[in-house]
Parts: sequence; C-alpha cells; structure tokens
Amino acid sequence: MKFISTRGKFTDKVDSAYAIKCGLAADGGLFMPESIPSLSSNELLSLKDKNYNERAAYIIGKFLTDYTYDELLADAAGAYAGNKFGPHPAPVKNVDGKIYSLELWHGPTSAFKDMALQIMPRLFVRALRKTGETKDALILVATSGDTGKAALEGYRDIDRVKIQVFYPTDGVSAVQKRQMQTQEGKNVSVKAIRGNFDDAQSGVKRIFADEKMAARLAERNTFLSSANSINWGRLVPQIVYYVSAYLDMVCSGDISFGEKIDVCVPTGNFGNIFAGYIAKLMGLPIEKFVCASNVNNVLTDFLKEGTYDKNRSFHATISPSMDILISSNLERLLFLTAGAEETGKYMEMLSSCGKYTVSGSVFAKISESFIGVFADEARTKATICSFYKNKNYLIDTHTAVAMAAAEEYLSTYKAERKILVVSTASPYKFAKDVYTSLVGEENAPSDIEAIEKLSALTGTEIPAPLSSVIAKEILHPDVIGKEDMDNAVADFVTL
Ligand SMILES: *Cc1c(COP(=O)(O)O)cnc(C)c1O
Repeated sequence: MKFISTRGKFTDKVDSAYAIKCGLAADGGLFMPESIPSLSSNELLSLKDKNYNERAAYIIGKFLTDYTYDELLADAAGAYAGNKFGPHPAPVKNVDGKIYSLELWHGPTSAFKDMALQIMPRLFVRALRKTGETKDALILVATSGDTGKAALEGYRDIDRVKIQVFYPTDGVSAVQKRQMQTQEGKNVSVKAIRGNFDDAQSGVKRIFADEKMAARLAERNTFLSSANSINWGRLVPQIVYYVSAYLDMVCSGDISFGEKIDVCVPTGNFGNIFAGYIAKLMGLPIEKFVCASNVNNVLTDFLKEGTYDKNRSFHATISPSMDILISSNLERLLFLTAGAEETGKYMEMLSSCGKYTVSGSVFAKISESFIGVFADEARTKATICSFYKNKNYLIDTHTAVAMAAAEEYLSTYKAERKILVVSTASPYKFAKDVYTSLVGEENAPSDIEAIEKLSALTGTEIPAPLSSVIAKEILHPDVIGKEDMDNAVADFVTL
C-alpha cells in the first residue's frame, strides 16, 4: 500500500513508514492510502474470535504493508498491555436501551489519545529503521492539555527519540498541569510558557520552519518531528477500536452479525470520527456518523449547509479538547469525496479567507454518512447529571456532548439502529466540571480536590494514573517566556 498527498501537488507515492516519519506531505497536504482496503465478512468473522491486539495487527497491517504482522502484533502487545490499560483497552458498555458507550480512556493518561499515542511511537521507531534514517528524532509538541501528556507517556524512554512539550502555564487544567509536571522518563522535557496556547503553538511552528535551528540540530544528529493528529500513524490505530467494538457487540449478542449500527463521536480535529468512517468504507456495517460538537460548532454548520467558515468567535468550554475552529482531518474526508485537486482549492480558500463551500455533489456524498449535532454548555452539564441520576453512568464533559447529541439524534431522526457513542475521557480527568454538574456551582472545589470529592459522591473509583499524580514529585517546574523556546530546544538536544 502506497500513500499520497490529499493536495495532489506532491506526487510521490510513499511507503507508510515514510508517511509516519514525516507527518505532512511536502505540499502541505495530509497522507492518505492510495485506496481503502476492504474487510470482507469472512475476515470480520475470523477477527471475531481474536483478541484486541490480534485485531489491531491485522487491521493496521492492511495499511502498513511495509510492516510485518509479527512487528505489528509485538507493537500492539507493548502498547495495550494489561498493566497500562486493564483487561480490555476499549470495552463497550450498554448504557440504556439503544445507547452503547465505547470507553477509550482506560489507558495511562485517562483520555482516548492513549489509543493512538501508545502504539505510534513504536511504529515511528520502526519507521526510522525502515527508511534508513540515520538521525535521531526530537518530537516537539505544543499542547492545550490531553495531547501533551499522552505523547509524553507514549514516547518516554523510546529509543532514538526525545520529546519536548510546551504548554500555556495558565491554559491547562490543574490535573493536566500536574500530569505533565510529574512526567518521568529519561528522554523527556516539559516547559510551561508564559502565554496562551497559540503562543506555544506559534513558537513550535516557528522552530519547525527555522533553518538555522535545523542545521544546529543536524550537528547533533537530530531532526524534528511532530506527534499531532494529522500524522497517519495516529489515525490508523483508531480504526481498530471501531471494528473491535462492533465485533464485541456481536459476541455479546447485542447485535447480530451484519446488523447496521450508528456511531456518535465527540469531535474536535475530526481524527477520531474519520477513523470510524474508514472502518465503514472497509466494510464495517455502520450507517450514520453523528458528529458531536460543543458551542465551537463549525462542523455542525458545515454538515448542515456545506460551508465551512472559521470566521467566528472562539469559545473556551468545559470540553476544551473540542475547542477547535480548524478541524484538520476534515481535509481527508474532502479528499475522499472531492479528490485532490478540489481539496487543494478548498484548503487555499480556508487559509486565504477562512471559509469555503463544497460543491453540491460533494455535500450530498458527505451527507449520506454524516450528521452534525451540537450541545451547548448548559445541555452538556444537564446531560452529565441526567446520565448519572437516571442511568447510573458517570461521564466526562466531552462524552456528555456526544451523549446529548446522540439523544437529540435518536429523537429527531427516529433512528431504529443501536448507537455506539464514543467516550473519550475519564470523568476524573475533568473532575471539577463533572462534580459541579452534579451538585451545582456553589462551593466549587479545586480541580485536584474535585477528584476525591467526585469519588466520595458517586462511589466510583479514581483511575490509578490520576490518583497517583496527586502524590507524585514535581520534576518539571520550569516556566519560561515564549521567546525562550528556541533556547529550551537547543539546550535539551545538547544534554
Ligand atoms: C482530542 C479529544 C477529542 C477530539 O478528538 P478529535 O480526534 O480531535 O476529533 C475529544 N475528546 C477528548 C477527551 C479528547 O482528548
């Protein structure tokens, strides 16, 4: 299987190892497989009797044909080990009637990014070897919370790689900050920036574009790479849990083999939901995708009208990992429905005037599979409360956006099918907002206090990685000016 750019100006066809090592194509497009491989009924049936790691190796192997099954199986086994994820990395729970929850937050950082960022570093190191790369990699990450911690955990102590994370000192939750400040590992660096997320991100982008920095790093036998969600190595592991969840629902008798389901995903950068769509294109019986947004509902409007318009005010919400106005992975959906040439034009319009409108036929094709629904802050909080009180199911703020969207979808569209709602974070990761959704805003506890209060109130268990973070030693206290990021990078590489 070869990979090509979504924008069609970079015309090389590359192996998956190259796509994973580079992240972006040279024309600024994203890498996509040249064709979508299929999963026949017979293949699905044989995967039904396999465990998660075997399913992962088989499905990822359809795209990463330059990796062997045994390599992928070893990487999956290392990534999804029981001491990190518990007995099942992606269990499905029936919440109520037709609503099922796919829990993707049983990993080391209690959010779904672990599903990709635990295995991607392993694929990345193999990619260095497979492409004959002689330099070591420095992964630079600007984060507003979940990605930074998950990337640190994924890349810690990985051979031939160093990782450095920058976060806005006042722009992440206290739990997220503590998680990053206590990060262990001999190849990690964590710096807080005096500034906001945009400052951190622009700093990282500037360093990536700085040729002098590249030359300085090359003297140290190092090149820069990134870990963000436009890398194919992050997308492909996410296809696996859709297939696995469907097969688990067949095994448990909740659906019959071949029965169609709907899927609802809390969406920010459009990576997670797009991975589900690939599973559908491969042959998994999924009818509709409900794309759930918070009040940053640029995707809801796009899916209603066919116009993507990022010219709108940005809202900081209680589901911060979905506070995004440019959903980068949507480009991949455009590529599949409109082709590379059109996609290139849309992306040019997006960068020049912040908006574009897709053609009628592209819109019709997208509408066959996607419906956009959004939930505002009040409805998100009310959903946390009603799911806990009426269904005895405690959910985080991001999952609550999706549950609210799923309920609206079921009542508006009178869909008959069962709906699999993707649950992306442990309620304890956003404990303060979950807690106040249940008891009201008065006497709001601090983020860290809320963890214990939430457990006392609901009798549910605090995930081990979050309970241990409270007691851990702070290893990365540094707060630096945004103008000092370059020096931080140079110092770290010289270490
Ligand atoms: C990253 C994230 C999302 C959004 O996922 P995308 O792939 O960016 O659409 C949703 N919920 C949580 C908890 C996240 O960390």
